[in-house]
Amino acid sequence: MSAKAWAEARRALAGGVDSPVRAFKAVGGTPVFMSRGLGPHLYDDEGKRYLDLCLSWGAIILGHADEGVTAAVQRQAVLGTSFGTATEAETALARRIQEAFPGMERIRFTSSGTEAAMSAIRLARGVTGRKTIVKFEGCYHGHSDGLLVKAGSGLATFACPDSDGVPEEIAGLTAVLPYNDSSALKRFFAENEPPACVIVEPVAGNMGVVAPAPGFLETLRSLTSRRGTLLIFDEVITGYRVSWGGAQAMYGIRPDLTLLGKIIGGGLPVGAFGGSARIMNALAPEGRVYQAGTLSGNPLSMAAGRAVLSRLSPEFFRDLNARAASFASRLEALFRRRRLAASVSRVGSMFTPFFLPRRPRNFTEAARSDRRRFAKFFRAALSRGIYLPPSAFEASFLSSAHDPSHLESALEAFATC
Ligand code: PLP
Repeated sequence: MSAKAWAEARRALAGGVDSPVRAFKAVGGTPVFMSRGLGPHLYDDEGKRYLDLCLSWGAIILGHADEGVTAAVQRQAVLGTSFGTATEAETALARRIQEAFPGMERIRFTSSGTEAAMSAIRLARGVTGRKTIVKFEGCYHGHSDGLLVKAGSGLATFACPDSDGVPEEIAGLTAVLPYNDSSALKRFFAENEPPACVIVEPVAGNMGVVAPAPGFLETLRSLTSRRGTLLIFDEVITGYRVSWGGAQAMYGIRPDLTLLGKIIGGGLPVGAFGGSARIMNALAPEGRVYQAGTLSGNPLSMAAGRAVLSRLSPEFFRDLNARAASFASRLEALFRRRRLAASVSRVGSMFTPFFLPRRPRNFTEAARSDRRRFAKFFRAALSRGIYLPPSAFEASFLSSAHDPSHLESALEAFATC
């Protein structure tokens, strides 16, 4: 059935998909067409069940079709799906977020993480009056022009575009530095005019999971503070994932701006950015930095987000993270027993099996992971009813619906993948 659906999709959609990684190019074979989700499982169009370790790229922290979330969405749907006006639900969700992220004194909701990142960078440029920005190799912040850039060789390279259609003039305003390299960061600040902002995934998820090295985020915080550069933590994945207060609470570093997405929309389209009232008041209508959206803060996403966040607490994360820690260490032990050159990198309930003997510290090391071995692992897991993200350089996730028996069966399946 998926083969037929795939042939039809390719006649109707560009490349058959609405987001490239769904096409399975990195792992081979025909993409699976999912038609239903329940708890920790997805069901394909033939009714085959998969234990979902991708969870809509981390968005589904309570499991699929959670009763509370579904009821909240249904309640809102009958009251109307979009008003294009102010609603109390936006304030209520913002207030809830501020309990966990006190640095987000003012919040603006968007419809995606891409928009949140793009808008936060415009805000940083507007507030500082500077043009250049810094990002890190292997970090992903959505697909806006200035963020789709790769590092050249050398320690601090003003980048060239990573995608056709991005003018060099725009990519050239983005400097790309190696992740977890405090010396490169210090050199950059010593040798260049200070940038408008530095944007970072405080725990990288988009080169596979790479934890920040001790001192890296601290160095970033002190250099940016000293030079009047805004520090942006992209917590689109890590917010409400690695801990109740995200990576900033886990590592004790407060950024100037925080980006959220995924979990705060309960599986509906969402993004958000926020920071101090002083910085955020530079946004229109108070200030002169323009940013807007027809469906921003739409009632369905707000309802789903509130239903999810009402269930999260520091204790929720203690439980989920403990389960993930045990799962990841047992998976790594299994790899060792099988004498595979593989390791498992984990922070909170996000983890990546790397086909590398040691956990990577940056993109150069992550990129050495054996892609062919991963593709084999992915396909074997899929045939045993386990759905992993279809790329070697992505994070896998657990939800609260993944109980010990699900994890036991995953480990049994992985023993022969
Ligand atoms: N930032 C990070 C860290 C992400 O992982 C993603 C998407 O995966 C984005 C931003 C972009 O979010 P969206 O796909 O909602 O535009």
